[in-house]
Amino acid sequence: MLAIEVEHLIYQYPDSTRALDDISFQIPAGTKAAILGPNGAGKSTLMHHLNGLLLPQQGTVRIMGETVNRKTAAAIRRKVGLVFQDPDDQVFSSTVWDDVAFGPANMGLDEEEISLRCDTALGAVGMREFKNKPPYHLSYGQKKRVAIAGVMAMHPDVIILDEPMAYLDPRGKDEVASLLQGLSFMGKTILIATHDVDFAAAWADAILLMKDRKLLASGGTELLVERK
Ligand code: ADP
Ligand code: ADP
Repeated sequence: MLAIEVEHLIYQYPDSTRALDDISFQIPAGTKAAILGPNGAGKSTLMHHLNGLLLPQQGTVRIMGETVNRKTAAAIRRKVGLVFQDPDDQVFSSTVWDDVAFGPANMGLDEEEISLRCDTALGAVGMREFKNKPPYHLSYGQKKRVAIAGVMAMHPDVIILDEPMAYLDPRGKDEVASLLQGLSFMGKTILIATHDVDFAAAWADAILLMKDRKLLASGGTELLVERK
């Protein structure tokens, strides 16, 4: 089963900046994939297409076999969890618990299921003891873990993380790395954007290299070795 299929995707922002130039690739379900590329390469714009935040202007995006379009975008957003680079863009409720409950509540789940999902996700990221705290009291790394718990609680098939290690101290990085490992043991398809070539080489089994709004190459971690 292919989790992500992108065919000839082209995207131009309203100010006519071209951000994606004919991108095509496929990612099988259960893959750990990393997108690498300099700032401005098009990584964020691509990731926003994979959960229906942006809709293709030309080309096709399919998630778990379903084409992303205006009609399917809401359903796609439940299948694909997106963790933003900056948790302050994502973590905004008055308590950690409410923040994690936000997605599941929006999905129309009953209270018991919402509680179970929040408790499990907060346990998985090691933030259960903070459940009644306001998120603004937390460290950057802790907020990041709350943002990841919020996405996990929606039980998506695919989880996309924009620079999950950015601005974390070494301990924070280790925590996020083991979370990613745990998610892939659960069978999730995971795609990260990162500048960390060493982490990508050690962790990923598929690599996408982007530059100047184009996909330069896709393949295994040998792509990184060749470029070192
Ligand atoms: P990356 O995530 O790799 O840094 P982006 O997808 O953010 O790349 O950016 C790709 C291109 O699109 C860049 O030229 C960037 O300046 C431009 N861009 C990004 N967001 C917007 C926007 N909201 N409006 C106009 N141009 C944008
Ligand atoms: P941790 O939970 O990993 O200890 P910290 O809050 O100590 O996280 O932040 C780790 C590093 O990230 C620190 O060097 C801090 O200055 C930096 N940092 C924290 N918040 C931000 C932010 N919003 N933007 C950029 N850097 C940040």
